[in-house]
Amino acid sequence: MNARRPTRQITVGDERVGRLLIGGGRPDRHGNPTTPAPVSVQTMTAGYTHDARACLAEIEKLAAAGADIVRVAVPERKDTQALKEIVPASPVPIVADVHFHFQRALEAIEAGVHKIRLNPGNIADRAQVEEVIDACKAAQGGRGIPIRIGVNEGSIIERRDKQKRLKELGAVFSHHKDGYLLAIMITKLEEYLDIFHERDFFDICISAKSMSAPLVVDAYTEISKRFDYPLHLGVTHAGPKETGAIRSIAALSALLCNGIGDTIRISYASDPVYEVQDGLELLWSLGLRERKGAELIACPTCGRIQVDLFTLTQQVREKLASEITLPMKVAVMGCVVNGPGEAEGADVAVFAGDRRGIIYVQGEKVANVPEGEILERLLAECRGFQERIQRGEASLGQKRVEIVPPDPLGELGSGWEKMAAERVKGAELTVGET
Ligand code: SF4
Repeated sequence: MNARRPTRQITVGDERVGRLLIGGGRPDRHGNPTTPAPVSVQTMTAGYTHDARACLAEIEKLAAAGADIVRVAVPERKDTQALKEIVPASPVPIVADVHFHFQRALEAIEAGVHKIRLNPGNIADRAQVEEVIDACKAAQGGRGIPIRIGVNEGSIIERRDKQKRLKELGAVFSHHKDGYLLAIMITKLEEYLDIFHERDFFDICISAKSMSAPLVVDAYTEISKRFDYPLHLGVTHAGPKETGAIRSIAALSALLCNGIGDTIRISYASDPVYEVQDGLELLWSLGLRERKGAELIACPTCGRIQVDLFTLTQQVREKLASEITLPMKVAVMGCVVNGPGEAEGADVAVFAGDRRGIIYVQGEKVANVPEGEILERLLAECRGFQERIQRGEASLGQKRVEIVPPDPLGELGSGWEKMAAERVKGAELTVGET
């Protein structure tokens, strides 16, 4: 992992909802040092914004899932009017997603929105952009609100001017597609930023999304070399969760591991709750955010499995999500091959054998139960362990005992090597003792 790239820092929110920092590491406008804020997770509502009550309910659901910021579409005036009801009641800062009509940005600012997203591909008129910049500067009693400049591959090509569009598309497709597209994205971004700089406005976040993961990596890498604004990462039109997850994680991981990215949105053609859950899991997995709730480790299973581990893992996952708030490591393993190793590194663990489960808490064996009792006993141990931590009697990540694997193979001894050497062909894998 490379260190986070230092950026300017922006603030999203207000006194009521709280002020969330994005980016950092460069001095602020008064010359005071800033520290990079944790990478935040964003998503966007899927319902109509003008249905204020339904929109608020969706925002609350997304905030409960862990979203730090929620963006809403404001295609019509009735949507920006609904913001007057939504923004004062929202549990997280709200961003207005503005396309085509700069008036929607002005109305959203008047309604108290915390940030504006503009698309240079469809709001390009200089006077209109300047009007939005001035309104953002004056918002919140002169404190100002930030603007995200969202360059999107899908909308960056000029659509109304046929000649210009043909020329741009010709440039894109005549040689190396991504190289030219990247050049157009950067050029449009630079031209757009000039308007902001001439207006002395630097409260900016940048995104440069594409449906192509390699182009996303190249675009953000290039932008990070040229500008010191915080970056909002995302792969746009990534598809349904099943495939979109791979596309998004491939691009975002590459960037985050290089220290690039200050806030992320994973986009799926699915319930946005999944976007939040997967965004958080990505940041937790990379160690960029402190995990909330249990971390579940589970083996993929193989021909040695002797319990229904898929069902057990799903049940454990659901129960942990609703009952465990501490970031304890819980391992669910299929047999003695890797079970003891994972059990040693986990706070609470089970490894299976011959329709039974051996349960450990911080390396200490606490139970040997039949398959039908594994779930309840494992969860009881997780709950008990959480309570002991809360009482100050235990702490996470401590290894108290080195696990000696049970001998599943009688006088031949245990271990994968002997199984692989076929010295135990036909031997029954049993874990008998309590
Ligand atoms: S822990 Fe056992 S069952 Fe699970 S994948 Fe490894 S060898 Fe197979």
